[in-house]
Amino acid sequence: MKIYNTLTRRVETFVPHENGIVRMYTCGPTVYHYAHIGNLRTYIFEDILEKGLKYLGYEVKRVMNITDVGHLTSDSDTGEDKMIKGAKREGKSVYEIADFYTNAFFNDCSKLNIKKPNIVEPASHHIDTYIEMITKMLQDGYAYLSNNNVYFDVSKAKDYYQLSGKNPEDLMVGVRDTVEEDKAKRNPADFVLWFTDSKFKNQDMRWDSPWGLGYPGWHIECSGISGKYLGEYLDIHCGGIDNIFPHHTNEIAQSEAYFGHKWCNYWVHGEHLNDQTGKMSKSNGEFLTVSLLEEKGYDPLSYRYFCLSSHYRKVLVFSYEALDQAESAYKKLKARISKLDRTPNLHEDKIDYYQTQFKEAISNDLNTASMLTLVYDVLKDDELTDFTKLYLIDHFDQVLSLNLIEEEKEIDNELKEYVLLKIEERNQAKKDKNYDLADSIRDELLGKGVRLVDSKEGTTYEIM
Ligand code: AMP
Ligand code: ZN
Repeated sequence: MKIYNTLTRRVETFVPHENGIVRMYTCGPTVYHYAHIGNLRTYIFEDILEKGLKYLGYEVKRVMNITDVGHLTSDSDTGEDKMIKGAKREGKSVYEIADFYTNAFFNDCSKLNIKKPNIVEPASHHIDTYIEMITKMLQDGYAYLSNNNVYFDVSKAKDYYQLSGKNPEDLMVGVRDTVEEDKAKRNPADFVLWFTDSKFKNQDMRWDSPWGLGYPGWHIECSGISGKYLGEYLDIHCGGIDNIFPHHTNEIAQSEAYFGHKWCNYWVHGEHLNDQTGKMSKSNGEFLTVSLLEEKGYDPLSYRYFCLSSHYRKVLVFSYEALDQAESAYKKLKARISKLDRTPNLHEDKIDYYQTQFKEAISNDLNTASMLTLVYDVLKDDELTDFTKLYLIDHFDQVLSLNLIEEEKEIDNELKEYVLLKIEERNQAKKDKNYDLADSIRDELLGKGVRLVDSKEGTTYEIM
């Protein structure tokens, strides 16, 4: 497989440490709010990467953390704690917030057919691991205690700027973040490993440590959890591009200081989903969540299809027009597949050919658009029997996860008549420009498990 490696800024041939086994770590969500669909674009790309590697024959051991402690709103150590912000907003405890939004996150993932990684660990469950790592880094001179906080000394790290390609000057505090310089640090880029004396003295999540009652910095959780479950040699580490600096840069510094050797060979980052104003946000503009898309009548998998149509390393701009187009293409594709004859009649001649092409699309830096094109190529190929087409599409869908082949669902006659009547009533309402009535009919049918699909040819329905 060939994949773009942020560390070397090149597309490289992937070679894991252990033959046939991939140790993969992906940064999990900060569970202070719902994930927006931008965050979920990153998890879709990571899901495809994991499933693509499996399709190529690798065994993938994948670990993800849940950030429920220590993530600040700013990259500097003086930002606000996101979890405390969430708890204040909702008048709940930090633990309640973490629980609620962790469930909400996996709920969204399941609607988008994003598989849960083998191991998912909340950061707050591994405090002993971080304390052990920090103690060793202090002993070895990579970390220092100042003003009751423990900092990592970036001047001790080997090639601290390699991943980000930044210069130390870019990182001057004050210039970058317009925040006050932390006088306790030796170098402006030093970061906190353990907070004892922070401005969040009264927060719920605090633990005893050799340095006093406190809590870990954000970055140490990923080094700790990854090392604990995947060992000291990692093959692939993923995240969105905003994670390159400071988070992943600091993970490398800590892990390599702790293990005493190079830690992870491939760093794979997904580009962002932007809205039309630029960066997607949970606080400004429309807060785009999977539930919001559903309320508007979209199938979450249309959003997955939308993401797969573009390459993970390209910025993707969200608009409802673009999503409409994706949904229409996706529904048409599924409609075509549903018409294929399911009578068993497998012709093996071209199966190898198409599967090899599919593997090449995966191997070509995860070219999801080519993977989708192959589904259309299979459908168009007159030399294939319908059953062979279904066989191939079913295989490809192990990676694409678009539910391309649905179980055939029956609708009883009474409901069918009712739905057809309602479609007529809705068409009339639209003609009368009574959009409230049209929307309420669509919502009522959704409640009965029937989704209306509008296209140029008129309105049809599907059973969910
Ligand atoms: P967070 O919950 O803020 O820790 O972010 C979760 C994941 O979403 C991280 O891997 C981020 O890199 C990623 N992310 C944040 N914003 C976006 C965006 N607009 N598009 C794609 N991924 C994003
Ligand atoms: Zn992380």
